[in-house]
Amino acid sequence: MPQKRRIAILGATGSIGQQALDVVSRHRDMFQVELLTANENAEQLAKDAIAFDANAAVICNPAKYDALSSALQGSTVKAFAGMPSVERLVEGDNIDIVLTAMVGFSGMLPTTAAVKAGKTIALANKETLVAGGDFIINLAKKHNAHILPVDSEHSAIFQCLLGATGNKISKIHLTGSGGPFRTWEREDIAKATAAQALKHPNWAMGAKITIDSSTLMNKGFEMIEASWLFGMAPKDIEVVIHPESVIHSMIEFEDGAVLAQMASPDMRQPIQFALCFPQRPPLNAKKLNFSQLGKMTFEAPDMQKFPCLALAYKAAEQGGNISCAMNAANEVAVASFLAGKIGFYDIPALISKAMDTVSFVKNPGLDELLATHEETMARTRERIENGSIN
Ligand code: NDP
Ligand code: MG
Repeated sequence: MPQKRRIAILGATGSIGQQALDVVSRHRDMFQVELLTANENAEQLAKDAIAFDANAAVICNPAKYDALSSALQGSTVKAFAGMPSVERLVEGDNIDIVLTAMVGFSGMLPTTAAVKAGKTIALANKETLVAGGDFIINLAKKHNAHILPVDSEHSAIFQCLLGATGNKISKIHLTGSGGPFRTWEREDIAKATAAQALKHPNWAMGAKITIDSSTLMNKGFEMIEASWLFGMAPKDIEVVIHPESVIHSMIEFEDGAVLAQMASPDMRQPIQFALCFPQRPPLNAKKLNFSQLGKMTFEAPDMQKFPCLALAYKAAEQGGNISCAMNAANEVAVASFLAGKIGFYDIPALISKAMDTVSFVKNPGLDELLATHEETMARTRERIENGSIN
């Protein structure tokens, strides 16, 4: 029997993390779980670490260490706390694959550590590539670390590229559902609440990415993520709204031929593809029934109603640390929107201000990315507190 893949799941208690554990539980012969991490949810972390016989569990918030340690008592799982422990443990010789499924910029340091250690990265944490794509991709080249996409669109592109046999791609068609406000008028979207934005039509995901999907910031992030992963210019990545979420993205060749990847919207498919690559073991996902589906529809995104998408193209064009500032402002804005402190269109307003005011760094390294992130977060919080959003 081939050797088991030894895996670390960072953000194991989240939507992606839990679905990854579901995949692993169905293929116990293929995987050995070595490391699981969470931020706050010590109980779930301990439960999963014991159930999957993990070597170690890390709770990033040190205040939750006692809860983790007592929940793990009597087991063989080692308990750790704090991000530096994650950074150290992902480098271990006992790990082959690191699934990065924590949310936001918190993924930057552990992803950097795993890349430096030459691990295979199953990348869900897109914010790391949005904020520091140039830095991460060059680091991965230097340390021979393979990055396998988990995001459904990028997994789709990756799956299509396997059929490209070295031919040049002229365009990526990046599909998106359009989110819960696709058919709403602008003045109604302006009054949208967090509860309304959290009702995604096709996908059940963590709160932050669900809000990012409602603003189309997520699609903007994915455009940047695709440009780094596949070496495509942003102008050659076209977003197309496809409300049925059946085609997960497409690649176009110079002769006009287009390849698409399709599947029912179930994140376990791209997660499993990344973890098992290049194998395709069975998955108990709903299979497509084209006769029942009847039709698929497509439309252009509305950049007036969803300015975050236009801001992402602008950030990609400006380069440097601008998309790092965009990401940081978005993190603060989304948290404030979820807390009911700001309105829907305050999110793009805050991002735009952050992009216009950040001091430009052309080729940011890790220190500059961390500084841009911290400074932009602080300034954006100040703007919200002072009521100087517009
Ligand atoms: P969730 O909010 O459901 O889960 C986030 C995970 O990260 C949890 O384990 C959480 O721990 C942990 N976490 C949160 N904050 C921190 C922090 N500051 N430091 C360390 N760990 C932290 O998110 P999702 O699973 O939805 O998304 C995870 C990533 O995957 C995101 O980058 C998202 O964009 C991407 N993604 C998600 C998709 C989805 O379908 N959900 C699809 C494509 C990409 P705790 O539970 O203890 O708070
Ligand atoms: Mg996606």
